[in-house]
Amino acid sequence: MKHVLMAVSGPSGVGKGSIVKTIISRREDIVESVSCTTRPPREGEVNGREYFFLSHEEFQKRIEEKDFLEYDEHFGNYYGTPKSFVLETLKTKSVIMEIDVVGSLQAKEVYPDCVLVMIVPPSLEELKRRLIGRGTEDMEKIENRLARIEYELSHKDKYDYVIVNDDLETAIKEVEKIFDRE
Ligand code: 5GP
Repeated sequence: MKHVLMAVSGPSGVGKGSIVKTIISRREDIVESVSCTTRPPREGEVNGREYFFLSHEEFQKRIEEKDFLEYDEHFGNYYGTPKSFVLETLKTKSVIMEIDVVGSLQAKEVYPDCVLVMIVPPSLEELKRRLIGRGTEDMEKIENRLARIEYELSHKDKYDYVIVNDDLETAIKEVEKIFDRE
């Protein structure tokens, strides 16, 4: 049986995290890749579970050692996928990565069989309204995020699959079907 490497991307707030978490909780044959990041842990996050939290120096060292399948910068912090973990895991299981568009396209270059899946909102306007309505961030941060949404969605054509997250369970089933088909 062939094991699948899948990158799941989409604008923030679209529900990709819930989709990935549900799939790995249901399927023993799919493992989530834990990324490295230089951003500080949020409350409740555990080193090695949500991310491996690294200093900028440690991250830089691992870039030089070519230890990342892909990496990218996000709002001033680095995020990257550990290459050795992914390649080792693929020998026995499929791997799902929740990464951004830049990272997905890099991963496809390094590993051409990587399946790229983009999750999109049923309505872009609604997603924008939700982001602004949250009221937890200043206008500059919101504008950065809105620009990022437009940027992510502008790469849709380079993706193997685009899934509309209208209903969470339907979207989860569609992603699972892609694993089974690939
Ligand atoms: P957050 O800080 O909210 O956990 O994640 C911010 C963004 O970083 C998300 O869009 C997420 O998809 C992206 N991200 C998380 N891990 C990686 C990674 O390993 N590589 C890349 N390129 N992006 C990542």
